[in-house]
Amino acid sequence: MIYLDYQATTPLAPEAREEMLRWLDGPGGAGFGNPHSIHRMGRQAEAAVEIARERVAALFPSGGTVVFTGSATEAINLALRGSEAGRAGRPVAVSAIEHSAVLDTALDLPGDTTILPVDRDALVDPQVALPEGVGIVSVMQVNNEVGTIQPVADLYERVKARGALFMCDAVQAAGKIPIGEADLIAISAHKFHGPKGIGALWVRDGIELAPEITGGGQEGGLRSGTLSPALCAGMGMAAKVALERMDQDAVHVASLWDRALELFPDWQVNGSAAQRYRGNLNIRHKGLDVSRLISDVREVMFSAGSACASESNKPSRILSAIGLTQEQARGSIRLGFGRYTTLEELERAAELVNCAAAQQG
Ligand code: PLP
Repeated sequence: MIYLDYQATTPLAPEAREEMLRWLDGPGGAGFGNPHSIHRMGRQAEAAVEIARERVAALFPSGGTVVFTGSATEAINLALRGSEAGRAGRPVAVSAIEHSAVLDTALDLPGDTTILPVDRDALVDPQVALPEGVGIVSVMQVNNEVGTIQPVADLYERVKARGALFMCDAVQAAGKIPIGEADLIAISAHKFHGPKGIGALWVRDGIELAPEITGGGQEGGLRSGTLSPALCAGMGMAAKVALERMDQDAVHVASLWDRALELFPDWQVNGSAAQRYRGNLNIRHKGLDVSRLISDVREVMFSAGSACASESNKPSRILSAIGLTQEQARGSIRLGFGRYTTLEELERAAELVNCAAAQQG
């Protein structure tokens, strides 16, 4: 099996797995303590959580706090629903290519939601018009379907000057490129070789949030519920390794990208080829039936648009937002590769995909 779906999830790093194991100990082990207990085992588990928090914090800009959550979706909900602006019903603005975790949550807030357009390159204009009285703006750093990198630094400065909050979904950026400045930033461990079931919200100092989940008051009262030391430790180690290897991983990904462009000469790249994370190759082929392609090429794990869009079998909302026709969107595939992908795997996958595509024509 060749795994080319790195935007859906990434393989657990061996270092992260190793770090998790001692916190999964059963009877007789010392690693299963509740990190909120005050006895020695509890304190040890708490120390592991705090080391992990520091490691995760190193991914973010300085001047903020990391709140562990169960997923990026939960972090995004806490940021948007928990913010003063979100609760007070002030206008909200989100880009047209946000993940549904952001879009659906924004649409559910009491304030009006404005959808900020993107161009054919899948980029938001840093000078895009913001609605009058806007309270919160959310634009992602790296798009999950096409990989384009948004001008979040410029947007943050403009939003700040308007007295509004800027939220950034950095799920596809974290651990791959430096995370940009924002007020609230959401990430997910399993997208950078950490475990599933844990995410984090970074909250800039001075920003007040109301909790979505109440109870025992963990995470500074922002997210009650017993933390999993194993998941925290795994996320922390994944963050540490990603930071240490960021340049090396980027060089590897760039070489795979260059080769991929040679391997798919009859396909067009969706979204800007220049302003993007290069571990995401979203390409289209005329007249292709992607569902058939995915079932024909059983050896390669890849996706039609996003994983969520492929389940619903609707043409991708993101590809439609960048102006592709239904036929073009339906003929698009996403190949996601990264740290553990080899050149041989990419070449074999291209051979299988191109061969199956040719049989359709
Ligand atoms: N935002 C983006 C850009 C994503 O790609 C994803 C997951 O695919 C999410 C948010 C949601 O992350 P999680 O599944 O950890 O809640």
